[in-house]
Amino acid sequence: MQQQISLKLLPSEAADDNILKSYIANSIGTKPDEISGFRLLKRSIDARGKQVYINLTLHAYINEPFIDRDTVNINFKDVSKAARKVIVIGAGPAGLFAALKLIEEGIQPILLERGKDVRARRRDLAALNREGIVNPDSNYCFGEGGAGTYSDGKLYTRSNKRGDINRILNLFVKFGAEDQILYEAHPHIGTNKLPNIITAIRECITSCGGVFLFDKKVTDFVIEDDSIKCVITADNNAFHGEAVILATGHSARDIFTLLNNKQIAIEAKPFALGVRIEHPQSIIDTIQYHCSSRGEYLPPASYSLVQQVESKGVFSFCMCPGGIIAPASTNNEELVVNGWSPSKRNNPFANSGMVVTVEDKDLAGLKDFKEYLKERTTGLDSPLSMMYFQEMVERNAYKAGGGKFVAPAQRMADYCNNKTSGSLPACSYLPGIQTTDLRTTLPRFIHKSLQEGFKAFGKKMKGYYTNEAVVVATESRTSSPVRIPRDSSTLQHPQIKNLYPCAEGAGYAGGIVSAAMDGERVAAMIAVTQ
Ligand SMILES: Cc1cc2nc3c(=O)[nH]c(=O)nc-3n(C[C@H](O)[C@H](O)[C@H](O)COP(=O)(O)OP(=O)(O)OC[C@H]3O[C@@H](n4cnc5c(N)ncnc54)[C@H](O)[C@@H]3O)c2cc1C
Repeated sequence: MQQQISLKLLPSEAADDNILKSYIANSIGTKPDEISGFRLLKRSIDARGKQVYINLTLHAYINEPFIDRDTVNINFKDVSKAARKVIVIGAGPAGLFAALKLIEEGIQPILLERGKDVRARRRDLAALNREGIVNPDSNYCFGEGGAGTYSDGKLYTRSNKRGDINRILNLFVKFGAEDQILYEAHPHIGTNKLPNIITAIRECITSCGGVFLFDKKVTDFVIEDDSIKCVITADNNAFHGEAVILATGHSARDIFTLLNNKQIAIEAKPFALGVRIEHPQSIIDTIQYHCSSRGEYLPPASYSLVQQVESKGVFSFCMCPGGIIAPASTNNEELVVNGWSPSKRNNPFANSGMVVTVEDKDLAGLKDFKEYLKERTTGLDSPLSMMYFQEMVERNAYKAGGGKFVAPAQRMADYCNNKTSGSLPACSYLPGIQTTDLRTTLPRFIHKSLQEGFKAFGKKMKGYYTNEAVVVATESRTSSPVRIPRDSSTLQHPQIKNLYPCAEGAGYAGGIVSAAMDGERVAAMIAVTQ
């Protein structure tokens, strides 16, 4: 017999398989030794009350052989001699999962990535963290695996209508992720584990005959008769395919500029910008779990906050429990921060983006931005206006930090009271932080919304609003500031045939899983189109 069971247990009980078996037996009305095995289907933490519980849904086998979860079985074909070839630009989650899908469909992907493989990329991250030098083609955003490689690897998405989330999670398990990502309510992989998984995906692509090339920055598109004929790379090579998947992510400003210069339609897109906030993890644990210490059975606590401040949305973004704040800049003299966590999330800090929505109406009255646009010989009506706004704020932040990616920072309560902090608390950000008045860095509408937002969050989470927390600027790469339009039925650019704008950079995804799903979706469309 097999049966699905739901249990609500104490954290210590949920961590012990023998205790679990006795609860399963009890709920079915049988003996523990008749339970031949069980498989977790869902696991979540219920911390609403004073006592924290673990909610489990599981599938139990009673008096019959236990069958463990199967890994997903996909028929990746040999595409080394395939007649159909498709260019994929960018080896982020979208590009990688697009390539896998093309292979499944018998099409040879030719993957062009501007950065380096995951291993070589690590050295560039070290130089950025230690020496304050950014390689514009190999950094936290660019290189094999894309922006998701050195991240927290959170794998949850709200866009479940856009594709098959389970298939993506199962593929991650097939390539080496632990199978708990299949049942955790908030699965994550961790920076230390992601590189091996990305390497396994690449090895699958190349062993099937897909082409995977590094140091191949696409710098031009050749268009004939309103159709894309080939792409040109920085080393002057031309690559041909029947279609081009453009999966270059939200930080490929050169691609947005290239499209605009070639008069290929793009649009300015609202995005969100703000700061990263870091608390000692123990403060967040105490607030969320209502106890002085979380003990050994609960993971480092996280949070998700949202507040409407007048007409603006202020919200937490990419929260990393037990994480590190990272310099996610792609250019020198532009300061961008983001966050990552190792799989165990065992660093002593909890960081999260805290951002405010930015729409074009917010930019109209900003004098310094108008000046900045003049220097760029463009105006507010440019499709690149949001991108330039993002760039301007990042440059202000770099200057305010004093160089070498030292980040301008303030204690949280000081920040909300317009007081420059006399000292700063310990912070995980390796290039270092510098006390400053963040009003000089952030535009007033962002700054005001954040101040009100922090105060409101302090009321929702008692203890959150504290001078033990540090506000670090600037969190600016939340989503793409540009949309590359595509026809909703063909997924091609409405003006350029066979050009498929894809995932986060084009404005159709946000996060690892949704980018991967969009990559698959575009590849599947190409398979049935040509
Ligand atoms: C530090 C950090 C932490 C994050 N944490 C999480 C998280 O925990 N969970 C989550 O869901 N999301 C997270 N994100 C966001 C997530 O990484 C992105 O949403 C996701 O990677 C987008 O996928 P993508 O394939 O669309 O683009 P990207 O991942 O940005 O990939 C684009 C790729 O294109 C390449 N490229 C760009 N221009 C060119 C060119 N001209 N020629 C050739 N190649 C080019 C880039 O090098 C890059 O590899 C994080 C991001 C960062 C930076």
